[in-house]
Amino acid sequence: MPQSQCKHQKLVLLPPQAAKLRCTRCHLTIEETELANNCCPECLAAHSIRHRDFERLEPEADRVRYSCEDCGAVISVLNSKDIFSG
Ligand SMILES: [Zn+2]
Ligand SMILES: [Zn+2]
Repeated sequence: MPQSQCKHQKLVLLPPQAAKLRCTRCHLTIEETELANNCCPECLAAHSIRHRDFERLEPEADRVRYSCEDCGAVISVLNSKDIFSG
């Protein structure tokens, strides 16, 4: 059964992605939940610097993600009320 036949009609809404943090020094991007030491692991490993200055990257708030129950494809669409009216 070719996958291209799927029309993605059984879509399930996926939970929003977690916020990420970007180190302002080395620009490493890390998930907030992974930042156990509260300092950048890359700066610590490479320069032995405990760097704690991060820029917060919000997940794509203008997009919502759906997963197709039939084929498992993840579809990202603009979060617009025009798409799913009613
Ligand atoms: Zn599908
Ligand atoms: Zn860093």
